Amino acid sequence: MNERRALLKTLAAASGVALLPRALRAAAPSLPEFPFTLGVASGYPDDRSVVLWTRLAPQPDQPGGGMPPRDVPVRYEVAADDAFRRIVKRGDATAASSFAHSVHQTVTGLAPARDYWYRFVAGDHVSATGRTRTLPAARDRVASLRIALACCQNYEHAHYAAWRHLAAAPPQMVVFVGDYIYETNQRGPSLRRHTGGVAQSLDEYRQRYALYQSDPSLRAAHAAAPWFAVWDDHEVNNDYAGTTPGREEDPAVFLARRAAAYQAWYEHLPVPPSMAPRNGVMNIQARAQLGRLATLHLLDQRQYRSPEACPRPPQLGGQRVGDECTERLDAARTMLGAEQERWLQQGLKQNTAPWTLLAQGTPFSQINQGSAEAPQYAADGWTGYAAARRRLLDSLQQTRTVNPVILGGDIHAFLVGDVGAVPEQPDSKLVASEFVTTSISSNAISQAALDKWRENGPRLHKVDGTHRGYIAFTLTPKQLRADLVEVEDASRPDSPSRIGSAWVIEAGNPAIQPA
Ligand code: FE
Ligand code: CA
Repeated sequence: MNERRALLKTLAAASGVALLPRALRAAAPSLPEFPFTLGVASGYPDDRSVVLWTRLAPQPDQPGGGMPPRDVPVRYEVAADDAFRRIVKRGDATAASSFAHSVHQTVTGLAPARDYWYRFVAGDHVSATGRTRTLPAARDRVASLRIALACCQNYEHAHYAAWRHLAAAPPQMVVFVGDYIYETNQRGPSLRRHTGGVAQSLDEYRQRYALYQSDPSLRAAHAAAPWFAVWDDHEVNNDYAGTTPGREEDPAVFLARRAAAYQAWYEHLPVPPSMAPRNGVMNIQARAQLGRLATLHLLDQRQYRSPEACPRPPQLGGQRVGDECTERLDAARTMLGAEQERWLQQGLKQNTAPWTLLAQGTPFSQINQGSAEAPQYAADGWTGYAAARRRLLDSLQQTRTVNPVILGGDIHAFLVGDVGAVPEQPDSKLVASEFVTTSISSNAISQAALDKWRENGPRLHKVDGTHRGYIAFTLTPKQLRADLVEVEDASRPDSPSRIGSAWVIEAGNPAIQPA
């Protein structure tokens, strides 16, 4: 131990922190206020490791979070029990000033398919305790696995009762498919209020994340289970596509804005340090092997996409387009980018597990929001990138992917649908199944409008935007079950919830059936 550490230890002991285990006293005694206001999180487990996250922010609503502009050492501790009697790992991490004093610590050497508890210490302060879980080993037979799918948590629209319920009965992992924050502010009255204006700078995005993470139910959901996460559009700008903003703005200004937004996403989610932004780019596509049971592919459908079809300047994204818009069908247009398409194809080739989960941000099924005579397609979803969607479906067939299940979000409604090889042809051979989760809190469009989607979409079993909630999946080697969890009244943080409907897929038959 060096002299400085020894001195700090003596000071810490003298300042009345004797209750803190000796090994936990971190060498950062100069934090007068509790810095763990944004909670703790874990993510991206494999069978041996997991990423632990926190961010030091004693004043989370202030630029810089109330932290001094220098790196701060933080201790972490991982135990096999929630009382930290059986410590399995401890070590030092750095809360880097350049990343808003966030910590992304990969802890290795863990055992497969186990629960662990973790916490951080900075100075005299101890964080809340989080629970996490490693994945089963790739060769392990897994009898069953519970996975929650969630997205879209607009802070202004409703409370996070959905997260409270998820945390009370935690799944083995949470898959979050985008709209973690909303960059814009609601006009007119709202249940809760964003602070600050429309997020554009790094400080403004950071403050937005800090506001969202000030919600105890969201913190509970992070502390309850490891997360895998991909982003959608609102983490940056509504309906942006690659380097094209959703609404006309100076291209250089938009690229700087996107880089700031990506960095803030990195700083506030339990993602691996290897995902840290470089020159405004972040590779967030990821793969996880869930024992012999399933392979999870997490796809980024925002960063590399082609501009949306048939824009109407100054609006460049988020249009509804009809059959006159042939750009929608252009084979040169991409949703995932050529490199990620290849990466996915490679991954699909190696799949041997009975379930293949493809998690990403927007609905995949054929959705006609107009009528049979005058179809209207969302330019922002996969229907707006019809050739890219076909390539993905072709790729699933070429690689003989078994039981592909597409998981999505974005529409603030539950959508359950069978996916044919040619989605435009309602009698084409079934090749995949789709579950889109409703929002945690974001408002949906009217149910009357959503009912039209179903009228026009014979392969859609359900399109329901009347409830906030999430989907709880239970996978076994023979069956995938989806429980659609509905919050009764999202205007109340303590609202009850219930399973509104349940659906199953039997292995080998992509047709979704009511449970
Ligand atoms: Fe959303
Ligand atoms: Ca979205």
